[in-house]
Amino acid sequence: MIFANRPTPMATAGWPPSDGGSGGHVPASGGAVDPALIADLAAASRILAAHGVVDAFGHVSMRHPEAPDRWLMARSIAPASVTPADIIEYDLDSRACNANGRGSFLERYIHGEIYRARPDVMSVVHSHSPSVIPFSLVNVPMRAMFHNAAFLAAGVPVFDIAHKFGATDMLVGNTTKGVALVDSMAGSDTVLMRAHGSVSCGTSLQLAVFRAVYTEVNARIQHWSIALATSPFATASSESIPTIAALDPEEGRLADGINNAGACLRGWALWREQVRVETSW
Ligand SMILES: [Zn+2]
Repeated sequence: MIFANRPTPMATAGWPPSDGGSGGHVPASGGAVDPALIADLAAASRILAAHGVVDAFGHVSMRHPEAPDRWLMARSIAPASVTPADIIEYDLDSRACNANGRGSFLERYIHGEIYRARPDVMSVVHSHSPSVIPFSLVNVPMRAMFHNAAFLAAGVPVFDIAHKFGATDMLVGNTTKGVALVDSMAGSDTVLMRAHGSVSCGTSLQLAVFRAVYTEVNARIQHWSIALATSPFATASSESIPTIAALDPEEGRLADGINNAGACLRGWALWREQVRVETSW
């Protein structure tokens, strides 16, 4: 285990894509952050990996608790490998305050531009979770299949990077593309990205993680529901029961109130403890 805490060559160069992150200008820090919060952010990466929301790719960030114009995210490594020592601070232009040679995710502009435009957002998850991506490819809107995913009931926009930028590498790799992504959200906390992935936001790290996990679970349930609804065993739906009886917007509003009031913390408490047992932090 001699090399356990040393960055590997693959983690600092090549893939996943990264850069130095400061853009030639090193912004001032917003101030020291409670190490317990830094550990929670590192744990969030591992929680999302454990739930199949992220794999070798994807990232989670949180706004600086004392400085609204600063935010925090791991250096460019696989989420399941993140430790508290990997967390870097950024300004709203997504320039690193303390990279110290550590690489930054090319798609950090997703986070920076959401924090700039949405003062209500305190945490952002970007993932390529596989069950969600099909809903960005075909004209089947994602619906809220159960109460844990009630936050989806108001509708989920799809960001198509080609609309404004034509053929690209699909990555939100600069400020302009980050702004376009935020514009497509139109105030939503979840957005799908065509042929790429999705973004989940929350008023806390715990809520953003909860939403990212249950967006992936909801997508799976919707695939299964569509398969059942179109199976030879399906009976004709009555006038009052839709073919797939997803939550309507009012049911979503009511059920999401329960999630936001603290139900999401039950999952977090379990998942955070599992990381603590695994890592001792
Ligand atoms: Zn991505």
